[in-house]
Amino acid sequence: MAMRIAAILAIALASTSFAQGTAPAPSSGVRYNRLLIRNAMVIDGAGNPARGPMDIVVEGSTIRSVRPARPINEFGTPSRSATGAASAETYDRVIDATGMYVTPGIIDMHGHIHFSRNGISWPKDYEYKLWLGHGITTVREPGSGEGMDTTVAHAKLSSANRIAAPTIIPYVVVESENPDSARAQVRRVKAGGGAGLKLFINRPDVWAAISDEARKLDLPIATDLKIQEVDAIRASQLGIRSLEHWYGIPDAAIPGPQRFPDYYSYDKESDRFRWAGDLWRQADSARLSAVLDTMLAHNVTWDPTLAVYEANRDLDRARTLPWFREYAMPQLMAFYEPNPERHGSYHFDWTTADEIMWRENMRLWEKWLREYAARGGNVTIGSDAGFIYHLYGFATIREMELHQEAGFHPIEIIQQATSNGAKALGLSNTGIVRPGFMADLAIIDGNPLHNMKVFYGTGVDVERDGKVEHRGGVRYTIKQGILFDAQRLLADVRRMVEEAKRSTPQTKAAP
Ligand SMILES: [Zn+2]
Repeated sequence: MAMRIAAILAIALASTSFAQGTAPAPSSGVRYNRLLIRNAMVIDGAGNPARGPMDIVVEGSTIRSVRPARPINEFGTPSRSATGAASAETYDRVIDATGMYVTPGIIDMHGHIHFSRNGISWPKDYEYKLWLGHGITTVREPGSGEGMDTTVAHAKLSSANRIAAPTIIPYVVVESENPDSARAQVRRVKAGGGAGLKLFINRPDVWAAISDEARKLDLPIATDLKIQEVDAIRASQLGIRSLEHWYGIPDAAIPGPQRFPDYYSYDKESDRFRWAGDLWRQADSARLSAVLDTMLAHNVTWDPTLAVYEANRDLDRARTLPWFREYAMPQLMAFYEPNPERHGSYHFDWTTADEIMWRENMRLWEKWLREYAARGGNVTIGSDAGFIYHLYGFATIREMELHQEAGFHPIEIIQQATSNGAKALGLSNTGIVRPGFMADLAIIDGNPLHNMKVFYGTGVDVERDGKVEHRGGVRYTIKQGILFDAQRLLADVRRMVEEAKRSTPQTKAAP
């Protein structure tokens, strides 16, 4: 009881610190004692074939049973089964999922929390609702500009169902370049409730100190290597849990330094992002193979975030995605526009030749990603949305589509998006539709094995009886047994965007 009061006090205190910007609205999610999802096809997330139709019973936050569907009467009571056994089971809520698919909730391994762009804030649940609206039930936060205290506080509010948000796993950036103060930073992360560290320090000596401290405190390390002295081999040896993006992998396989043009400056984003597009081509195949083996030997998860680089190979497509109109905040669209002052907004003088180079770069990257998985490496789904024309929620699904482009089977992609993520995060009780597991689930209006696009909030057009019908989208998202109407969350987002367009002063007029 004392514990409970302490927890409630902590939450109350945390809520008072959200003075800036619009606080998230109270959660609309409901946790039932007994919830039945009836007649659904099930993709379990463990890599098994689809099964069903099945009935899934959720009790509180836990999946109680997953069993072949039986007829059920209007009161939510199963009638006599084919074998003649009577049943008196009742439910607080029944969802008829006939024609729908159930997967585990998606784990986005790279979801930054942003409450504003271009200095203009937006409602704090804008991003959360886009995530939940796309079936995303867990987000690994790889370092937020909003600060550790905020992400940790929101993680607590989310698990108490005070706000509508996925489960948040807050990782915190450590950037001190002095071994002693870096160690102190690691200890502060642990004391402050951080679940892991994010590193991109280019100093092997400091990194070694951080790794040592992190090991003692049981904090996993994610790294975004940029292009530098510490490459994928060194980082693997220094004990990372996951490698974000891809930097450092081809770099470790290039004989000598990267062959950048003479005018190149690492500190100029337009140089850095453009010429990263030549690195996979520069890498030597035999060496690359050895780099992957080193990562594998150290159990490194590769979280590639392919899709956040996609604008580099096809800028005009990326700038004109159909979901921007209703779902993208105007200040976010303004933030994406070319401007050397902002991170990820380097697409000025972006040429046909750059796009061609990047198409080849991504082809080779995808090939080695597939190779890593084929050798037993853990591959996950992460979006890095909020940068480079990449919109929260939609971006995660796009990442899944690009894994399909890389040659992965949709069953394997759903596994990457669910149980592989759980494995990388050390969460042993989620990511699989299985009795005893946490009820983290997505109920989708369509078959993602047929078309991954059915996950998109904007849905898909299908043909039925000679007519085109609009379907798809996630219908319900269940996070730790809490049921959310995903379509309602997306409608909230559309209203937020409409409101922002009416009232927010814009830094730049729409074209
Ligand atoms: Zn990131």
